[in-house]
Amino acid sequence: VSLQLALDRLAKGPLPVVAGGTDFYPALMDKSAPADLIDITQFDELKAIDAIDDEWRIGAAVTWTDIIRANLPPAFAALKAAAKEVGSVQIQNRATLAGNLCNASPAADGVPALLALNASVELRCASVTRIVPLANFITGVRTTTCRSDELITAIHIPTLSATERSTFVKLGARKYLVISIAMLAVNLDFDESGKCCRCAIAVGSCSPVAQRLTELEQVLLGMSIDDTEKIKEYIDAASLSELSPIDDVRGSAVYRLLAVRSVLKRAVSSVINDYNSSRKLI
Ligand SMILES: Cc1cc2nc3c(=O)[nH]c(=O)nc-3n(C[C@H](O)[C@H](O)[C@H](O)COP(=O)(O)OP(=O)(O)OC[C@H]3O[C@@H](n4cnc5c(N)ncnc54)[C@H](O)[C@@H]3O)c2cc1C
Repeated sequence: VSLQLALDRLAKGPLPVVAGGTDFYPALMDKSAPADLIDITQFDELKAIDAIDDEWRIGAAVTWTDIIRANLPPAFAALKAAAKEVGSVQIQNRATLAGNLCNASPAADGVPALLALNASVELRCASVTRIVPLANFITGVRTTTCRSDELITAIHIPTLSATERSTFVKLGARKYLVISIAMLAVNLDFDESGKCCRCAIAVGSCSPVAQRLTELEQVLLGMSIDDTEKIKEYIDAASLSELSPIDDVRGSAVYRLLAVRSVLKRAVSSVINDYNSSRKLI
């Protein structure tokens, strides 16, 4: 079966789609598995990670383990760190980034790192391919703009400066196999004079869809790499108005906001330390 044949079949009517199956099968609960479905992992063209022109293209059948093993620039450190936090090694071996995005859980570990990388989603139906920014792809809890006649075929990430650094922090009630209370990805880049020239901060598990903290990003742009105390003060003062955490069994809304501030300060310091160590090596 070719990818085009699968898309032609989807054009005739909905059919369940599965990749690693690590969200799909547990969601069936007591229902039996459908007799007919499209397994996208059979399409070799969806398994590649390529640097093409001015972007990276990650195929829809690429697993978290593939990401951990791939030779990617330092700006992808947060995505690699997120990959290591998805379930267990067995889950990482099967589960895909694309499946994580389609499942659209507020606690999906892949979303903050991909938002901070300005990722877009490539959606294909039998006749057309469209590219949707990830920020517009996930529209709510478990809802996306993927139509029933479409497949995600790839994730696109613009090429970023070789000096950009990033980190991902997942806060959970235990170390492994945990749904996060809050998580965040931070990408920072500085120009030759040490001024912050790119700042991307994305937070998950604190709103129906993970959010970029655009207000704080604007404040931190232009700040000096040596001004870490001032940066922390700005984080303490930030409104975090993009977030709307809820109280649930994992943590209260108040705790989540406190945790985000605290984890964010640590994450920014860690990226700056990483940045400074890489500068010393040059
Ligand atoms: C024990 C366990 C632990 C887990 N821990 C974590 C965790 O720590 N963090 C986390 O974020 N997630 C976790 N998950 C959830 C899951 O593993 C991830 O969301 C994973 O990335 C899903 O990928 P998949 O390939 O298995 O998706 P699938 O289950 O195959 O698919 C998920 C959904 O996406 C759709 N889909 C898949 N691929 C496509 C495509 N190309 N085009 C259109 N639709 C598609 C499917 O129809 C389905 O609705 C865990 C799951 C289990 C079972």
